[in-house]
Amino acid sequence: MPQRLMIDMIKLRDAMVNNPDQALPEGLFYPSLNSNGLKTIRELATFRFTCRNCEDAPCIAVCPTEALEKDADSLVIRHTNLCVSCKSCVTICPFGTMMTDFFIHHRNRDLFYDLSDDGEAQKFIDVCPEGTVYMTVDDESPEKNIYRLNDRILIREYLYKTETK
Ligand code: SF4
Ligand code: SF4
Repeated sequence: MPQRLMIDMIKLRDAMVNNPDQALPEGLFYPSLNSNGLKTIRELATFRFTCRNCEDAPCIAVCPTEALEKDADSLVIRHTNLCVSCKSCVTICPFGTMMTDFFIHHRNRDLFYDLSDDGEAQKFIDVCPEGTVYMTVDDESPEKNIYRLNDRILIREYLYKTETK
């Protein structure tokens, strides 16, 4: 049965709150899965699953460099080449969607792990706060707040849902 990497965004957020000075390790893929610069898995997961997709998104309006926009699926994306890490979008988001360390440039590259490499993925698991990232044979399971980011990554996160009735 194929193993997937589970990234528990709920526990990661708790870990950050409990230890705000800790720099979280980041998982990403080389080459990047997206064509818009290297994006960490946390950023991709946040805009996919945590963001409320505000209609008149204040984060987009406030960005001084027009680095944010919505893609064809109405997901917010960040153009890394335009972002100047001012964090205005983090501050103005009414839902606290983004973790405060998302857009810091010049971070320690030793904290970045290529998840397309099994050895690096294991190192990533080892250095993440205990219980936040692990291998699993589980699959997407909305009743457990588990969603598929891609074929290899599962994300545990509370989804925002709007009533359609
Ligand atoms: S942190 Fe980047 S994306 Fe956010 S408002 Fe500033 S420039 Fe725009
Ligand atoms: S303001 Fe926050 S919740 Fe709204 S679109 Fe931007 S990131 Fe998403």
